[in-house]
Amino acid sequence: MSFSEEATSSVPLLSEKHSGIPDFLLEKAKEAKAEVFNTRTKPQSQRNRLPVIPQGVEESAFFKAIDELREQLGSDHVEVNDKPLKDGCVNPNTHDMMYVLDEEELVASAVVYPSSTEEVQKVVLWANKHGIPIFPISMGRNLGYGGAAPRVRGSVVIDLGKRMNKILDISPEDYTCLLEPGVSFFALYDAIKAKGYDHLWIDVPDVGGGSVIGNTVDRGVGYTPYGDHWACHSGLEVVLPTGEIIRTGMGALPNNNTWQTFPYGFGPYSDGIFSQSNFGIVTKMGMTLMPNPGGYEAFIEIIRPLRISNILENVAQLRHVIQTIAVRGQPRSTYYTGSGPIPLDVVRRAAAATPVGDCAWAYYGTAYGPPHIRQHKLAIIDAEFKRVAGARRVDAEVDMPADEYFWARDRVAAGVPDIHELRWVNWVPNGAHVAFSPVSPIRGADAERLFQLARRRHDEFGIDLFPAFCVGLREMHLIVEIVFDRADPERRAAAMACLRAMIDDAAACGYGEYRTHLVLMDQVAGTYNWNDGALMKFNEKLKDALDPNGILAPGRCGIWPRRYRNRGWEMTKASGERSEGNGVGPLPPP
Ligand code: ADP
Repeated sequence: MSFSEEATSSVPLLSEKHSGIPDFLLEKAKEAKAEVFNTRTKPQSQRNRLPVIPQGVEESAFFKAIDELREQLGSDHVEVNDKPLKDGCVNPNTHDMMYVLDEEELVASAVVYPSSTEEVQKVVLWANKHGIPIFPISMGRNLGYGGAAPRVRGSVVIDLGKRMNKILDISPEDYTCLLEPGVSFFALYDAIKAKGYDHLWIDVPDVGGGSVIGNTVDRGVGYTPYGDHWACHSGLEVVLPTGEIIRTGMGALPNNNTWQTFPYGFGPYSDGIFSQSNFGIVTKMGMTLMPNPGGYEAFIEIIRPLRISNILENVAQLRHVIQTIAVRGQPRSTYYTGSGPIPLDVVRRAAAATPVGDCAWAYYGTAYGPPHIRQHKLAIIDAEFKRVAGARRVDAEVDMPADEYFWARDRVAAGVPDIHELRWVNWVPNGAHVAFSPVSPIRGADAERLFQLARRRHDEFGIDLFPAFCVGLREMHLIVEIVFDRADPERRAAAMACLRAMIDDAAACGYGEYRTHLVLMDQVAGTYNWNDGALMKFNEKLKDALDPNGILAPGRCGIWPRRYRNRGWEMTKASGERSEGNGVGPLPPP
């Protein structure tokens, strides 16, 4: 296309092209384009330095390899870069349109257009086979920082955005989305508007034509409270330089429903090494969305919108009232001497005799700020919570004596350290505790499912159920503390059996633990096994590179150094809970 043709050609709309313009910006985009072309004096370039072949590969071998790639991806999806570079062309994928060196310095030898993660994997394996450098871009609009140009002249650019540009999910309840690399800020904004989700906001950089993934992995910024894009992402799918595909965070747990709501998963948080790096190609990313602060508002179902919009400002707890009783520090025998778990009516009678009063659950939350702002927020919260039949607000100033547990929660929520909490350990003689801590979305159905799952197993093993939901911004942790007599081997075994059963039950429904006890780490790590344990293989590789002698905390979070692997060190029910394996391998030569 000549300059004049290009200057007058229409700007594509989003409906025509993944890198197009939304309708409402069309006129503005045409004007901007005209201005650029009106001020230009530069003629169309001739190519002087052809062909471009990456160093380290013979020309004939390179073109043979390109033919091989064409066979794998289809010949339309592999383009050799042998034409004049289109200067002024909006969004080239072969070079930097804002070149500061010679225009032909940082250029691609070819561009490939994979359509799926598996095709990206094929390209990576192909590059390894032939020793050809590859350079991924999402939309290549990293203008001012190199655009689409590869650092090594002649690299094959992987243009992910052209064919991988689907918005895989937008959750209007969790305020999250799941994206492919070719989704621009324009496209995401447009899709949210088209669905009528006026309560969802996105954070955009100064110019919205680039991709959400490219901008985020390069740690770009925007201008709302969600301006730190990297901090706001949740979960990645990555093709590693050797071709393995991993999912980070909760993505490693098959059938999970928290990939976009809880960023960490279990074990080392690996996402950081994929930002501003050359350690992997991001093929999917979860992103959190901001609530429209203009005030859209619709016990767990009510908490979610209030929590996401920060009306409920802290990580609050919804605790079963048995904990409010136990935290008074009296043994369970004060209330009940029968066998099996303590019945709910006994717990409620005990609660009725305390300032909290007869109830099953107590929500402890805190409002912050000057008094008039606090009053206003508390009035909104009060009105919302009272939609739950039987909900009652306890006025602490009036009803709570100074030694009541409530004031310990009040201090902790104000950053004042406290020790009151652990008094529930006295529930049984020689009291000890161990936690089951699965993560779920902030939904009533998930709360009920996890609660019933725990209830069933506690009943089976004759254990009192101590549940509390800790509500994060988009996810909640259920923390179930098992309190047991540590001097009683039978009660210890019951606690272990109950925990192991709950971990497996939860994983079968897609819930994973955010943290766990040392002796359960192998089991929990084993539930994060998406794609044949890809994340653990990746963690083992990192461990072996950073700790070749395997001396630092072997086995922590289920990661065993090479010297310990395949020697039965993993602790499971099947292995009889033995903590030791069968020796360790020799030290590698220095
Ligand atoms: P944008 O989509 O905003 O135009 P770019 O595609 O120009 O962003 O990418 C910006 C930088 O981030 C580039 O240096 C590129 O190599 C890197 N990058 C972009 N997308 C990915 C990805 N999906 N995986 C890994 N690195 C990426």
